[in-house]
Amino acid sequence: TADAGSRLSARLGAAAMYLEKLRLDGRVAVVTGGAQGIGLASAHALGEAGARVIIADRDPAALEKGITALAEKGVDCASLLLDITSSAQVDDAVKTLIAREGRIDILVNNAGIARSETPAEDVEDEHWLNVIDVNLNGTFWCARAFGRHLLDAGGGVIVNVGSMSGFIVNRPQAQSYYNASKAAVHQLTRSLAAEWADRGVRVNAVAPTYIATPLNAFADREGEMYRRWIDGTQQGRLGEPEEVAAVVLFLASDMSSLMTGAIVLADGGYTCW
Ligand code: NAD
Repeated sequence: TADAGSRLSARLGAAAMYLEKLRLDGRVAVVTGGAQGIGLASAHALGEAGARVIIADRDPAALEKGITALAEKGVDCASLLLDITSSAQVDDAVKTLIAREGRIDILVNNAGIARSETPAEDVEDEHWLNVIDVNLNGTFWCARAFGRHLLDAGGGVIVNVGSMSGFIVNRPQAQSYYNASKAAVHQLTRSLAAEWADRGVRVNAVAPTYIATPLNAFADREGEMYRRWIDGTQQGRLGEPEEVAAVVLFLASDMSSLMTGAIVLADGGYTCW
Protein backbone atom coordinates (compact mmCIF):
# COMPACT_ATOMS: atom_id res chain seq x y z
CA THR A 1 0.00 0.00 0.00
CA ALA A 2 1.00 3.60 -0.49
CA ASP A 3 2.38 4.20 2.97
CA ALA A 4 3.43 0.70 3.97
CA GLY A 5 7.00 1.91 4.50
CA SER A 6 6.08 4.76 6.79
CA ARG A 7 3.58 2.61 8.76
CA LEU A 8 6.29 0.06 9.30
CA SER A 9 8.77 2.69 10.43
CA ALA A 10 6.19 4.08 12.85
CA ARG A 11 5.78 0.57 14.32
CA LEU A 12 9.50 -0.07 14.58
CA GLY A 13 10.36 3.47 15.64
CA ALA A 14 13.56 5.19 14.58
CA ALA A 15 15.17 1.83 13.89
CA ALA A 16 13.10 1.31 10.71
CA MET A 17 15.30 2.30 7.82
CA TYR A 18 15.02 -0.29 5.10
CA LEU A 19 11.59 -0.71 3.51
CA GLU A 20 11.03 3.00 3.16
CA LYS A 21 14.10 3.16 0.94
CA LEU A 22 12.05 1.35 -1.68
CA ARG A 23 9.60 4.25 -1.77
CA LEU A 24 9.79 6.57 -4.78
CA ASP A 25 7.26 9.20 -3.75
CA GLY A 26 7.74 12.50 -5.56
CA ARG A 27 10.01 10.97 -8.20
CA VAL A 28 9.34 10.82 -11.92
CA ALA A 29 10.35 7.69 -13.83
CA VAL A 30 10.50 7.07 -17.57
CA VAL A 31 10.26 3.51 -18.89
CA THR A 32 11.13 2.92 -22.56
CA GLY A 33 9.25 0.10 -24.24
CA GLY A 34 6.87 0.56 -21.33
CA ALA A 35 3.68 -0.29 -23.19
CA GLN A 36 3.85 -4.05 -22.56
CA GLY A 37 5.89 -6.92 -21.16
CA ILE A 38 8.77 -6.26 -18.77
CA GLY A 39 8.53 -2.49 -19.31
CA LEU A 40 4.87 -2.34 -18.35
CA ALA A 41 5.45 -4.51 -15.26
CA SER A 42 8.36 -2.24 -14.29
CA ALA A 43 6.13 0.82 -14.68
CA HIS A 44 3.63 -0.85 -12.36
CA ALA A 45 6.32 -1.63 -9.77
CA LEU A 46 7.73 1.91 -9.79
CA GLY A 47 4.22 3.35 -9.64
CA GLU A 48 3.26 1.14 -6.70
CA ALA A 49 6.35 2.50 -4.92
CA GLY A 50 4.96 6.01 -5.38
CA ALA A 51 6.65 7.29 -8.54
CA ARG A 52 4.85 9.07 -11.34
CA VAL A 53 5.61 6.95 -14.40
CA ILE A 54 5.90 7.89 -18.06
CA ILE A 55 5.73 4.94 -20.40
CA ALA A 56 7.53 5.74 -23.67
CA ASP A 57 6.99 3.44 -26.64
CA ARG A 58 6.90 3.47 -30.43
CA ASP A 59 3.57 1.60 -30.57
CA PRO A 60 0.59 3.96 -30.02
CA ALA A 61 -2.05 1.21 -29.69
CA ALA A 62 0.03 -0.69 -27.13
CA LEU A 63 0.65 2.58 -25.24
CA GLU A 64 -3.07 3.16 -24.93
CA LYS A 65 -3.62 -0.34 -23.55
CA GLY A 66 -0.67 0.04 -21.19
CA ILE A 67 -1.91 3.34 -19.79
CA THR A 68 -5.36 1.85 -19.20
CA ALA A 69 -3.85 -1.13 -17.36
CA LEU A 70 -1.65 1.10 -15.18
CA ALA A 71 -4.46 3.52 -14.39
CA GLU A 72 -6.63 0.57 -13.30
CA LYS A 73 -3.87 -0.35 -10.85
CA GLY A 74 -3.89 3.17 -9.46
CA VAL A 75 -0.55 4.19 -10.98
CA ASP A 76 -0.02 7.90 -11.62
CA CYS A 77 1.04 7.65 -15.26
CA ALA A 78 1.26 9.24 -18.68
CA SER A 79 2.46 8.10 -22.08
CA LEU A 80 4.91 9.37 -24.65
CA LEU A 81 5.23 8.22 -28.25
CA LEU A 82 8.93 7.60 -28.81
CA ASP A 83 11.14 5.62 -31.14
CA ILE A 84 14.42 5.26 -29.26
CA THR A 85 16.39 4.66 -32.48
CA SER A 86 16.09 8.37 -33.31
CA SER A 87 18.55 10.31 -31.16
CA ALA A 88 16.79 13.55 -32.16
CA GLN A 89 13.45 12.18 -30.95
CA VAL A 90 15.07 11.03 -27.72
CA ASP A 91 16.62 14.48 -27.11
CA ASP A 92 13.23 16.10 -27.79
CA ALA A 93 11.54 13.66 -25.42
CA VAL A 94 13.74 14.80 -22.55
CA LYS A 95 12.92 18.47 -23.29
CA THR A 96 9.19 17.72 -23.58
CA LEU A 97 9.15 15.73 -20.35
CA ILE A 98 11.09 18.30 -18.35
CA ALA A 99 8.65 20.96 -19.55
CA ARG A 100 5.66 18.75 -18.80
CA GLU A 101 6.73 17.01 -15.57
CA GLY A 102 9.24 19.44 -14.12
CA ARG A 103 11.74 16.69 -13.29
CA ILE A 104 12.96 13.22 -14.21
CA ASP A 105 14.69 11.04 -11.64
CA ILE A 106 14.71 7.53 -13.07
CA LEU A 107 15.21 6.07 -16.55
CA VAL A 108 14.44 2.41 -17.21
CA ASN A 109 16.09 1.67 -20.53
CA ASN A 110 13.97 -1.34 -21.42
CA ALA A 111 12.90 -1.14 -25.10
CA GLY A 112 14.44 -3.99 -27.06
CA ILE A 113 13.84 -6.49 -29.84
CA ALA A 114 15.10 -10.02 -30.44
CA ARG A 115 14.33 -11.24 -34.00
CA SER A 116 15.70 -14.66 -32.95
CA GLU A 117 16.34 -17.79 -34.98
CA THR A 118 18.65 -16.61 -37.76
CA PRO A 119 22.03 -18.35 -38.07
CA ALA A 120 24.94 -15.89 -38.27
CA GLU A 121 25.83 -16.91 -41.82
CA ASP A 122 22.32 -15.95 -42.99
CA VAL A 123 21.98 -12.63 -41.16
CA GLU A 124 21.27 -9.77 -43.59
CA ASP A 125 22.75 -6.31 -42.99
CA GLU A 126 19.27 -4.95 -42.25
CA HIS A 127 18.68 -7.58 -39.55
CA TRP A 128 21.99 -6.97 -37.77
CA LEU A 129 21.69 -3.18 -37.98
CA ASN A 130 18.07 -3.15 -36.77
CA VAL A 131 18.77 -5.19 -33.61
CA ILE A 132 21.90 -3.20 -32.78
CA ASP A 133 20.04 0.04 -33.54
CA VAL A 134 17.26 -0.64 -31.04
CA ASN A 135 19.08 -2.61 -28.34
CA LEU A 136 22.42 -0.78 -28.26
CA ASN A 137 22.14 2.55 -30.09
CA GLY A 138 18.69 3.36 -28.69
CA THR A 139 19.81 2.42 -25.19
CA PHE A 140 22.77 4.76 -25.55
CA TRP A 141 20.74 7.67 -27.00
CA CYS A 142 18.40 7.45 -24.01
CA ALA A 143 21.19 7.06 -21.44
CA ARG A 144 23.01 10.05 -22.97
CA ALA A 145 19.98 12.36 -23.18
CA PHE A 146 18.44 11.46 -19.81
CA GLY A 147 21.91 11.14 -18.27
CA ARG A 148 22.74 14.76 -19.20
CA HIS A 149 19.62 15.85 -17.37
CA LEU A 150 20.35 13.68 -14.31
CA LEU A 151 23.93 14.99 -14.14
CA ASP A 152 22.67 18.60 -14.35
CA ALA A 153 20.07 17.86 -11.69
CA GLY A 154 22.75 16.48 -9.38
CA GLY A 155 21.73 12.83 -9.40
CA GLY A 156 19.44 10.07 -10.55
CA VAL A 157 19.24 6.46 -11.55
CA ILE A 158 19.38 4.51 -14.79
CA VAL A 159 18.37 0.86 -14.97
CA ASN A 160 19.20 -0.89 -18.23
CA VAL A 161 17.48 -4.10 -19.23
CA GLY A 162 20.21 -6.43 -20.43
CA SER A 163 19.86 -10.19 -20.68
CA MET A 164 21.45 -13.45 -19.60
CA SER A 165 22.25 -13.59 -23.35
CA GLY A 166 24.99 -11.07 -22.54
CA PHE A 167 26.66 -13.85 -20.50
CA ILE A 168 25.75 -17.10 -22.23
CA VAL A 169 24.86 -18.24 -25.73
CA ASN A 170 21.23 -19.32 -25.88
CA ARG A 171 20.27 -22.66 -27.36
CA PRO A 172 18.94 -23.97 -29.62
CA GLN A 173 17.96 -20.76 -31.42
CA ALA A 174 20.65 -18.77 -33.22
CA GLN A 175 20.71 -15.05 -32.31
CA SER A 176 24.30 -13.80 -32.47
CA TYR A 177 23.19 -10.18 -33.06
CA TYR A 178 20.94 -10.19 -29.96
CA ASN A 179 23.56 -11.78 -27.73
CA ALA A 180 26.19 -9.30 -28.91
CA SER A 181 23.82 -6.36 -28.37
CA LYS A 182 23.08 -7.38 -24.78
CA ALA A 183 26.74 -7.98 -23.89
CA ALA A 184 27.34 -4.45 -25.22
CA VAL A 185 24.52 -3.09 -23.03
CA HIS A 186 26.20 -4.65 -19.99
CA GLN A 187 29.59 -3.10 -20.76
CA LEU A 188 27.90 0.24 -21.55
CA THR A 189 26.25 0.00 -18.12
CA ARG A 190 29.62 -0.39 -16.40
CA SER A 191 31.22 2.36 -18.48
CA LEU A 192 28.49 4.91 -17.72
CA ALA A 193 28.48 3.89 -14.05
CA ALA A 194 32.20 4.56 -13.82
CA GLU A 195 31.95 7.92 -15.60
CA TRP A 196 29.01 9.22 -13.57
CA ALA A 197 29.40 7.68 -10.11
CA ASP A 198 30.99 10.73 -8.50
CA ARG A 199 28.24 12.96 -9.89
CA GLY A 200 25.38 11.11 -8.20
CA VAL A 201 24.11 9.08 -11.14
CA ARG A 202 23.92 5.32 -10.63
CA VAL A 203 23.72 2.99 -13.64
CA ASN A 204 22.90 -0.70 -13.21
CA ALA A 205 21.37 -3.45 -15.31
CA VAL A 206 19.12 -6.44 -14.82
CA ALA A 207 19.87 -9.54 -16.90
CA PRO A 208 16.78 -11.76 -17.16
CA THR A 209 16.31 -15.33 -18.33
CA TYR A 210 13.40 -16.21 -20.66
CA ILE A 211 10.39 -14.20 -19.52
CA ALA A 212 6.77 -14.85 -20.50
CA THR A 213 6.21 -11.81 -22.78
CA PRO A 214 5.27 -11.30 -26.46
CA LEU A 215 9.01 -11.15 -27.25
CA ASN A 216 9.18 -14.92 -26.67
CA ALA A 217 5.91 -15.78 -28.36
CA PHE A 218 7.82 -17.22 -31.34
CA ALA A 219 8.49 -20.36 -29.32
CA ASP A 220 5.77 -23.00 -29.53
CA ARG A 221 5.00 -24.04 -25.93
CA GLU A 222 4.69 -27.67 -27.07
CA GLY A 223 7.86 -27.56 -29.15
CA GLU A 224 11.46 -28.71 -28.76
CA MET A 225 12.92 -25.22 -28.40
CA TYR A 226 10.63 -24.35 -25.51
CA ARG A 227 11.44 -27.67 -23.83
CA ARG A 228 15.16 -26.93 -24.04
CA TRP A 229 14.66 -23.49 -22.52
CA ILE A 230 12.83 -25.00 -19.56
CA ASP A 231 15.28 -27.90 -19.20
CA GLY A 232 18.14 -25.39 -19.16
CA THR A 233 16.58 -23.38 -16.36
CA GLN A 234 17.21 -24.80 -12.88
CA GLN A 235 13.89 -23.47 -11.63
CA GLY A 236 12.22 -25.31 -14.54
CA ARG A 237 10.02 -22.46 -15.74
CA LEU A 238 9.94 -19.13 -17.55
CA GLY A 239 10.18 -15.98 -15.47
CA GLU A 240 7.28 -13.58 -15.12
CA PRO A 241 7.60 -9.88 -16.06
CA GLU A 242 6.79 -8.98 -12.44
CA GLU A 243 9.87 -10.89 -11.26
CA VAL A 244 12.10 -8.70 -13.40
CA ALA A 245 10.16 -5.59 -12.39
CA ALA A 246 10.97 -6.34 -8.74
CA VAL A 247 14.69 -6.14 -9.53
CA VAL A 248 14.14 -2.96 -11.55
CA LEU A 249 12.38 -1.40 -8.55
CA PHE A 250 15.22 -2.39 -6.22
CA LEU A 251 17.84 -0.94 -8.59
CA ALA A 252 15.79 2.24 -9.12
CA SER A 253 15.37 2.84 -5.40
CA ASP A 254 17.68 4.07 -2.63
CA MET A 255 17.69 0.46 -1.36
CA SER A 256 20.51 -0.15 -3.86
CA SER A 257 22.43 3.04 -3.05
CA LEU A 258 25.83 1.32 -2.96
CA MET A 259 25.29 -0.38 -6.31
CA THR A 260 26.47 1.04 -9.58
CA GLY A 261 27.84 -0.80 -12.60
CA ALA A 262 26.18 -4.03 -11.40
CA ILE A 263 24.61 -6.49 -13.80
CA VAL A 264 22.04 -8.37 -11.73
CA LEU A 265 21.11 -11.78 -13.12
CA ALA A 266 17.48 -12.79 -12.63
CA ASP A 267 17.76 -16.08 -14.45
CA GLY A 268 16.12 -18.87 -12.44
CA GLY A 269 19.59 -20.41 -12.19
CA TYR A 270 20.08 -20.73 -15.97
CA THR A 271 23.71 -19.60 -15.93
CA CYS A 272 24.75 -21.93 -13.08
CA TRP A 273 25.45 -24.86 -15.36
P1 NAD B 1 8.13 -6.96 -25.60
O1 NAD B 1 8.30 -7.20 -27.05
O2 NAD B 1 6.99 -7.59 -24.88
O3 NAD B 1 8.05 -5.37 -25.32
C1 NAD B 1 9.00 -4.50 -25.86
C2 NAD B 1 8.39 -3.13 -25.99
O4 NAD B 1 9.40 -2.26 -26.54
C3 NAD B 1 7.19 -3.06 -26.94
O5 NAD B 1 6.13 -2.35 -26.34
C4 NAD B 1 7.74 -2.35 -28.17
O6 NAD B 1 6.77 -1.56 -28.86
C5 NAD B 1 8.81 -1.48 -27.55
N1 NAD B 1 9.85 -1.07 -28.52
C6 NAD B 1 10.50 -1.86 -29.39
N2 NAD B 1 11.32 -1.12 -30.15
C7 NAD B 1 11.18 0.16 -29.74
C8 NAD B 1 11.75 1.39 -30.15
N3 NAD B 1 12.62 1.46 -31.17
N4 NAD B 1 11.39 2.52 -29.50
C9 NAD B 1 10.49 2.47 -28.49
N5 NAD B 1 9.91 1.34 -28.08
C10 NAD B 1 10.24 0.20 -28.69
O7 NAD B 1 9.52 -7.36 -24.94
P2 NAD B 1 9.91 -7.73 -23.44
O8 NAD B 1 10.07 -9.20 -23.37
O9 NAD B 1 9.09 -7.03 -22.46
O10 NAD B 1 11.39 -7.12 -23.45
C11 NAD B 1 11.77 -5.94 -22.79
C12 NAD B 1 13.28 -5.94 -22.65
O11 NAD B 1 13.68 -7.08 -21.92
C13 NAD B 1 14.03 -6.00 -23.97
O12 NAD B 1 15.18 -5.16 -23.89
C14 NAD B 1 14.45 -7.46 -24.06
O13 NAD B 1 15.59 -7.64 -24.85
C15 NAD B 1 14.71 -7.75 -22.60
N6 NAD B 1 14.67 -9.18 -22.27
C16 NAD B 1 13.56 -9.93 -22.52
C17 NAD B 1 13.57 -11.28 -22.20
C18 NAD B 1 12.40 -12.17 -22.47
O14 NAD B 1 12.58 -13.37 -22.42
N7 NAD B 1 11.22 -11.64 -22.73
C19 NAD B 1 14.73 -11.85 -21.61
C20 NAD B 1 15.82 -11.06 -21.37
C21 NAD B 1 15.79 -9.73 -21.69
